[in-house]
Amino acid sequence: MAKKDKDFVKEITPMEVDFPQWYTDVIRKTDLVDYSPVKGFMVIKPYGYALWENIQSYLDKKFKETGHKNCYFPLLIPENLLQKEAEHVEGFAPEVAWVTHGGKEELAERLCVRPTSETIICSMYAKWLKSYRELPYLYNQWCSVVRWEKSTRPFLRTSEFLWQEGHTLHETYDEAQEETLKILDIYRDMAENLLAIPVVTGRKSDKEKFAGAYATYTMEALMHDGKALQAGTSHNLGQHFTKAFDISFLDRNGDMQNPYHTSWGVSTRLIGGVIMVHGDNRGLVLPPRLAPIQVVIIPIAQHKEGVLDKAYKLKKQLQDIGLRVELDDNENYSPGWKFNEYEMKGVPVRIEIGPRDIKNNQVMAARRDTLEKEAIPIDGLAETISKLLETIQSDMLERARKHRDENTYSIESLEDFKEKMEEKPGFAKAMWCGERECEEHIKIETGATIRCMPFEQEDLGDKCHFCGKEAKHMVYVAKAY
Ligand code: AMP
Ligand code: ZN
Repeated sequence: MAKKDKDFVKEITPMEVDFPQWYTDVIRKTDLVDYSPVKGFMVIKPYGYALWENIQSYLDKKFKETGHKNCYFPLLIPENLLQKEAEHVEGFAPEVAWVTHGGKEELAERLCVRPTSETIICSMYAKWLKSYRELPYLYNQWCSVVRWEKSTRPFLRTSEFLWQEGHTLHETYDEAQEETLKILDIYRDMAENLLAIPVVTGRKSDKEKFAGAYATYTMEALMHDGKALQAGTSHNLGQHFTKAFDISFLDRNGDMQNPYHTSWGVSTRLIGGVIMVHGDNRGLVLPPRLAPIQVVIIPIAQHKEGVLDKAYKLKKQLQDIGLRVELDDNENYSPGWKFNEYEMKGVPVRIEIGPRDIKNNQVMAARRDTLEKEAIPIDGLAETISKLLETIQSDMLERARKHRDENTYSIESLEDFKEKMEEKPGFAKAMWCGERECEEHIKIETGATIRCMPFEQEDLGDKCHFCGKEAKHMVYVAKAY
């Protein structure tokens, strides 16, 4: 499509026709983002940013409840720091953006724009930490990072993205491992209870783990088109960085030792996940707890006496119990136009109120997720709507779970996997030998990757379904974003 045409999307392409185009149309029509003058970098517009703010406030609360504190480290990292941990530099080097000049002068040492902040944070931890009494360090920062991605798509993969990155230090390996899993569980809870996205949690293979990690844990979600999305990761970094950065402390026995280290992050990618799990051919479908507008009130025949008064009263009642409500009394658009607009924007509940409704002491309420409409008495409206929103929230999670389960299957062999992927892409469950060569072969042959070795292991046989060697783990394999 020509650039000019792309700016104005008339209709949303049906997802059965062209899923990627559907995605692009939805985010453009609903005004979540815009493309920027720099390729791969996106502008997040107010409606999109409001989604991020809701994710942020949900998580920030959980992080603080579990003892974490926010802080802020510099955007730029001196080259020598980036290079201290060998695997890390190798993993990130191809994606790093460099600052080489300050004004007109060339810098004596290049500075990279943080692709993630382990290195600069560790350089500071090395300065600060003295004794076991100060541990654990439980810090988090909300910021953006830059990774020079080759192919990008708004939210899912951008060259700059907003995220949080937690960086913690612990006295023992066990404490670090506990922290790594505790955070993954906070992520899982957020995905399920805020975003209504069911996830599979487990460990990444060595090939797929974070550069420099001892072990990476992930949550994987299944999108509407049967592709997987890595929705969040939590890393047990062992002592890899703390040794490389000389972070040491006097332990309980009076000996010097290196602490154990974790890092973890989720990003604006989650918003892409919400769109791709819940959206339909009319546009966004937002889970109520995440939705910037939970209820929109649309007056019918608003010029008639009493309609707007009543509508504003209802708005206040709903706001008073803490709901996010908007009343659209713009005279320049018809109610029908507004219905479409808020449907497209994924607002969970629409309330229509006109003279006849007022006479009957009721309103019409329409659910975005099922498109069902029903009359609701005005008496007790706030409680009824509040309950309805909770029902929508849990129905959406269940629907997504059903979709995921219906698109999860066991496979017999590589050939079987290929056929099944062709027929119906999704999560394939299989046994795997644990070997890198075998994993690379799967990718070359199918384009799919091992998403994780789930915590909930199932025994699907003794042999690797891909190469026939002895099986070590049960894995989920899928094509991924
Ligand atoms: P990582 O530090 O590589 O483990 O990344 C942490 C999380 O950030 C990942 O689990 C993804 O959800 C997300 N993420 C990674 N790369 C990108 C990207 N280019 N755009 C958006 N989100 C990303
Ligand atoms: Zn194998």
